[in-house]
Amino acid sequence: DEQKPTYKRVLLKISGEALMGDQGFGLHPPTVERIALEIKSVHDLGVEICLVIGGGNIFRGLQGSAQGMERTTADYMGMLATVMNALAMQGALESLGVFTRVISAIPMDQVCEPYIRRRAVRHLEKKRVCVFAAGTGNPYFTTDTAATLRANEMSCEAIFKGTQVDGVYDKDPNIHSDAVRYDEVSYDEVLQKHLKVMDASAIALARDNHKPIVVFSLDEPGGFAGILRGEGTYTKVG
Ligand code: UDP
Repeated sequence: DEQKPTYKRVLLKISGEALMGDQGFGLHPPTVERIALEIKSVHDLGVEICLVIGGGNIFRGLQGSAQGMERTTADYMGMLATVMNALAMQGALESLGVFTRVISAIPMDQVCEPYIRRRAVRHLEKKRVCVFAAGTGNPYFTTDTAATLRANEMSCEAIFKGTQVDGVYDKDPNIHSDAVRYDEVSYDEVLQKHLKVMDASAIALARDNHKPIVVFSLDEPGGFAGILRGEGTYTKVG
C-alpha cells in the first residue's frame, strides 16, 4: 500500500528558470508571486520549509566559461544570481505574511544573513521559511548539490524538486508521447539511465544520506500542498 509522504520539514528546490515566466530571462514578479503562494499553502499546513533557488535565469557559470570567462569567476557570478532570486522570493513571501530569512553561503551582511547552521535550524523551529542562497559557496558545484547539502544539514525529511512536469519519465514527455512516468525509481537507476532529476553529485549525496527526492510539477496550482496531504502525482526517488 502507498505510503503518504507527509513530512514535517522539507526542502524545496526550484531552478532559476521557474521564476522567469515566459520572458526567457530574469525575474517575472507575477510568477515569483504565484510560486510564493504555493509555498505559503504548504507553510499553512505547518510544514517547516527550506528553499533553494537556482540562478540559471540570470547567469550560469558553465555558459560564462564556455564563452571564455574564467570558470571560478563565472561560478561566483552564478552564485550571486541565486542571491537575487532569493531576495525576490523573500519579498514575495513576506508580502503574503510568511516570515522569511535569506541565508547566504557567502556572507554579505547588509543584504542577508550568513549561513550558521544552528541559527537556521532555530528559524525553522520558529516557522520561518529559510531561503538558502549562494549555493554551497563553492565554484564547480550546482544549486542541486546545495539543496541536497542543506537538506542533510537541516534534517529535512525529503527534497522536493519542483519542475514543469509531474515527475520523472523514462524519456522526455515533451518530445515522446509514449513516455512513461515512474511512480518510484531508485537513485542508482536515475544515475545509470541519466534520468533528468538533479545532477549526479546531488543524487549521490541524497542516496548516501537516504533523502528521498520528490519530483513534482510546480505548474499545477495547489500541487505542492496536495502532495504533502498525500494527493497528486509525482515521482519518488528513493
Ligand atoms: N553555483 C556554484 N556553486 C554552487 C551553486 C551554484 O558555482 O554551489 C553557480 C554555478 O555557476 C551555476 C550557477 O551558480 O551555474 C547557478 O546555479 P544553477 O545552475 O544550479 O541554477 P539552476 O539551473 O537551478 O537555475
